[in-house]
Amino acid sequence: MNKIDKFCSIVEVSCLGETVTLYEVSLACEKAEKELFSSENWERIRRKAIETVTGLGVPVHWGKKTPEDYLDFPWDGKGIYVEKSEDGDFPRSENILHEAAHYLLAARRRRSLEDFGLGSPTSVRSGLSKDPRGLKNSEDINDEESAASALGIALVARIDLVLAIMTAEEHNWFLDLDDEILSGEIEKWRREAVGCRKRVAPPLRRSVVHWMKKIRDKILDILDS
Ligand SMILES: [Zn+2]
Repeated sequence: MNKIDKFCSIVEVSCLGETVTLYEVSLACEKAEKELFSSENWERIRRKAIETVTGLGVPVHWGKKTPEDYLDFPWDGKGIYVEKSEDGDFPRSENILHEAAHYLLAARRRRSLEDFGLGSPTSVRSGLSKDPRGLKNSEDINDEESAASALGIALVARIDLVLAIMTAEEHNWFLDLDDEILSGEIEKWRREAVGCRKRVAPPLRRSVVHWMKKIRDKILDILDS
C-alpha cells in the first residue's frame, strides 16, 4: 500500500453516523461527500466560508437566489452567489472559497469577466474566454488555476482541515503521489499557494503559509501514526 492509500484508508470521517474512511468516501458519489458532515456542521462551514469571503473584500450577491448555472462556478463577473438556488441547493463552500481565491489572484481588469477571463476548462463550460481581455495562453491559464486551487484549499483549511484535504484530493493534488515523492509534492503544493503571495495582501500571505503547513503536517502526522 503506498502512502497516499494508507493516508486515505486511515483518515476516518463520520458519514451519516457511520465511520468511513476517506478512501471509501472519495470512491463514493458526490452525495456521500455532501453527507460527510452533519447538516449543522455543513451550515457552520458555509457561514464561515461566506464570512471569510466578505472579510477578504470579495463581492457577494446577498439575498439573490443562486441561478442553477452558477452552483458549480458561483462567480458571474459581479459577485459570488452564496444563497440557495430555486431547487434548494447551495453552492458548495469549497467552490465559494475557490472563486474567492480566483478573485484575489486575477488581474483587476479580469475580475469583471465570467470565469475571470480564464474560460472554464470543465465539462460544464469549455473553451477559452471570448472576451478580448481574457487570458489566451493555456500555460498562464493553468498557472492561475493551480494557484487558485492551492489558495482556495488554504482558505478551506482555515475552516475545516478534513474538507481541505478532501478538496485537495478532488483537485487531483494527490494523483501522482507515492512513498518517495509525497513530502516533496506536498511541499510543492504549499509553495504553489505561497507563490501567489505577491498578488495577495500580507495578512493573507501569512495565513496561506500557515494553513498549507497545517495541512501538510496533518497529512504527515497521519502517515506516521
Ligand atoms: Zn478555478
